[in-house]
Formats: sequence, structure tokens, C-alpha cells
Amino acid sequence: MDERIVSLKAQFEADLSKIENVADLEGIRVSYLGKKGSITDLLKGMKDLSNEEKKAFGQDVNILKNEATNRIAEKMQELKEKEIEKEINSMPSFDVSMPASLDRGSYHPITLVQRQCEAVFRSMGFNVEDYSEVVTDYECFEALNIPKHHPARDMQDTYYLENGQLLKSHTSAAQNAIYKKYKDALINDGTPIKAIFPGRCFRNEATDACHENTFFQMEGVMVDKDISISNLIFFMKTMLSEVFRKDINVRLRPGFFPFVEPGFELDISCLICGGEGCPSCKHSGWLELCPCGMIHPEVLKAGGIDPEEYTGFAFGLGLTRLAMMKYGVKDIRDLNGGSLKSLSQFTDDE
Ligand SMILES: [Zn+2]
Repeated sequence: MDERIVSLKAQFEADLSKIENVADLEGIRVSYLGKKGSITDLLKGMKDLSNEEKKAFGQDVNILKNEATNRIAEKMQELKEKEIEKEINSMPSFDVSMPASLDRGSYHPITLVQRQCEAVFRSMGFNVEDYSEVVTDYECFEALNIPKHHPARDMQDTYYLENGQLLKSHTSAAQNAIYKKYKDALINDGTPIKAIFPGRCFRNEATDACHENTFFQMEGVMVDKDISISNLIFFMKTMLSEVFRKDINVRLRPGFFPFVEPGFELDISCLICGGEGCPSCKHSGWLELCPCGMIHPEVLKAGGIDPEEYTGFAFGLGLTRLAMMKYGVKDIRDLNGGSLKSLSQFTDDE
């Protein structure tokens, strides 16, 4: 075999053995087998040889060319396998037989309180209703006896969409829809309307330890013949005693809300001192909890219910406020802050 072929073959093997990636391998292929490659060049030098020599030389160069082509293909396969192996080794490994992590998170304190309230009201025959967060001006205000330019709107500035809809500023925004949904059963079958509707509410206001632009309420209504304030007091007292796991006293003070008449502020006996008087209740023994009252005749009328025949009560419980009282949260912003460190310390005491 020609000396040049032998030495080029040795050179090729030496070069190939140093290759560690696909790009370098391609470089080797071009430098040996490309149009100007070393092996191709050998064939160009054949013109000075005799016919006999040309034949033998040509055959040897072709053998070398085929060998080099095969060696490069083998090397390519080898490099690709190595790359896959490298990728697999770089993946995080885990043991599928290990037990699942016990760190599973917890319910948000507002969710806990909401579920407790729902459970108590369900047991007293109330339906739990879900209602949209985006409502019309009619649902949020007009149907609740709050016409345009009514001063009560000042307290409930919220966020408006370009189409005139708004983010509900109180769960009362669902009242009209609830009355319309259940009025036929009330009028035709005498089934009282008993519903609670928890939900997220919004107000356009600056936040501080006591104010948030996003908070949770739970509205409750009951409509039937001969519903009175004592029904309201009974349901509120029962629900609160269950939620706080102790006997809670409630009292009503007059309060003005356009959608109730008469309207009240409902206070509960101080959870800390039990009514004796302490700094938390400003030594009064009472804590302000929620607005409530007898549903205004205009509100019943807007819902298709005759106020001459039916009466009802409504209350707007602040779930956020209730959660703060129950779990001793001092800053309302902690509840929406998303810090797992502060939120995960609350547990369901069911
Ligand atoms: Zn107190």
C-alpha cells in the first residue's frame, strides 16, 4: 500500500480519537472527505502514476474513503449516545418509593371562617349561593334603594369597567338576583327564601392596617311571611356562637343603610374580655360586627316580592373582619399579602 495512504490513515485515526463533540466531528469529515479534503486530494495526485499503479492506488484510496466514512458514522452514533446520557445524568433524581411530602399547605383563614359560617347556615336550612364579582350598577346600587347621586355611594367607591359594569362593592349586589331566583317558590309554594352568598368585594380605597381594597363578605337573607327582627337575632347569635365556639351575646344599635328599614349595627360581646371591658373593645365590652336590618320594601319590590305580604331580614357579615377577630390578625393586609409564613399558622379547629 502506498506510503501516503498508510500515513493518512494513521493521521485520520489519531485525529478521530481526539474528537469529543459533533461539531468537531463535522470538521474532521470536511477536512478528510470534503471536496478539498486530504483523502480527496490523494486521488488528484494519481495522474503521474502508471495505469497499473493507478488501479491499485485508486482501490486503496476508495477503501480508506469507505473506512473513514464508516468510522465517522460510528463516532457520530457514539457522541449522540454520550450526549443523551449526559442529559439524563443532569436531571434531578428522585426516589418514587419515598412517601409524599407532608408539607401540604393549609386553608386561608378567610376560607376557614367562610366554611364554618356556611356549615352553620346550611344546617339551619340556608342555600349557599355563588355570585359574579362583576355586576351592573343596577344590581350593586339601584336595586338596593341607592339611586344615582345618593350619598351612600360615596362610601362605596369601587372599580369600573369601560362597559359601565363594576366590581361589586358589597355582597348585597346579589340580593336582587337571589330574590328573582326564588320568588316563584316563595309565592307559589310558600317556600321561604333562605340564602347566604359569600364573595369577594372591592373598594377603591387606600390600604392600611384596617382597610383593604379587596375583602370578603357574606350576605345573608331570609324572606317569608311574618319575619321579624327576633329571627335575625336568633340566626346571628347561633351562627356566631358556633364559629367562635362559645356563647356570644349580640346587641343591635340603630344604623342607616338604604337597603334596610329599620337598619342596625350588630355588635357582639367582646371575645377577649367577654363583656367586662378591655383595651380591645375600648372598655365597652362590645365589638362592632356587621350591618343588618329588615329588608327595605323598595328592595323587595325590585326583586318581584310584594312587601305588603312578605318581610325579611338581611345582614352583611364581614368575613375578613370575622377572620381577623377569630384568629387575632392585627393587620388586614396580612390576609392578602400572600406570605405563607403568616398564613400557614392558621388551622382548621373542626
Ligand atoms: Zn373587651
